[in-house]
Amino acid sequence: GKDREAFVTLATNNSYSQGAMVLAQSLRRHGTLKEIVVLVTPQISLDVRHKLETLFDRVVLVDVMDSEDEAHLSLLNRPELGVTFTKFHCWNLTEYNKCVFMDADTMALTNIDELFNREELSAAPDAGWPDMFNSGVFVYKPSRETYLALISLADSEGSFDGGDQGLLNTYFNKWSTSGPSKRLSFLYNMHSTATYTYSPAFARFGKDTKVVHFIGAVKPWHHTYDFANDVLHQAEGPGIHEEVFIKQWWRLFAESADKIRE
Ligand code: UDP
Ligand code: MN
Repeated sequence: GKDREAFVTLATNNSYSQGAMVLAQSLRRHGTLKEIVVLVTPQISLDVRHKLETLFDRVVLVDVMDSEDEAHLSLLNRPELGVTFTKFHCWNLTEYNKCVFMDADTMALTNIDELFNREELSAAPDAGWPDMFNSGVFVYKPSRETYLALISLADSEGSFDGGDQGLLNTYFNKWSTSGPSKRLSFLYNMHSTATYTYSPAFARFGKDTKVVHFIGAVKPWHHTYDFANDVLHQAEGPGIHEEVFIKQWWRLFAESADKIRE
């Protein structure tokens, strides 16, 4: 129908699919009334795909190499943008009128269905360069035209940061001056590095966080959590995330695993 709306995420491998499961569980737990969709690539094992099917309304298989010629050609020129292209596939979900894309390393702490009142392209500022939006959470309108425009831009200009965020900011370059309606609060995409780069602000506003985004190389699934003793064993590497959020992530992961077993 015309007013179909969905949260959309992406997992191109089994490890990111763990993040996708937690995201879905976090949205369900807070009573979302929207559909929840995951885009997957053939690298994801059938077993994992079946698990995803118990948590998501839909598991949509996307394969960049099987898509339109435009995508195919661009991919041949710039193979390093493969994962980037896969994220752009979210614009092909034209059976939906509006969607909210969320990275697989995000987790909702409350109901965020009100995001569907926003228009394309709404997003929160990036903590590293606030004139740009962070592409981990954004409101968009599926459109074949936009998809083709994005991959053609990827082909002609490439992405200045090698990822989807650079390209999306080039395409939606009016975002920073388009006014408050397109600017989501940082609380909808709280990149946890903000907790140490501006810790007084986190102390003051952190409790209102609506979505945590575990940016960086070290993701929650790289750590291990001893539930019985409430001890988190942090993996080595760059990127510090709040322990309380990582523990929350693990509790949701356990919940989603229970759901899969049922
Ligand atoms: N992603 C994926 N497989 C990968 C890398 C990324 O599925 O190998 C997807 C996943 O949804 C992820 C998003 O692309 O959340 C963006 O990557 P990431 O979150 O690692 O980037 P960061 O937010 O740390 O900049
Ligand atoms: Mn991310």
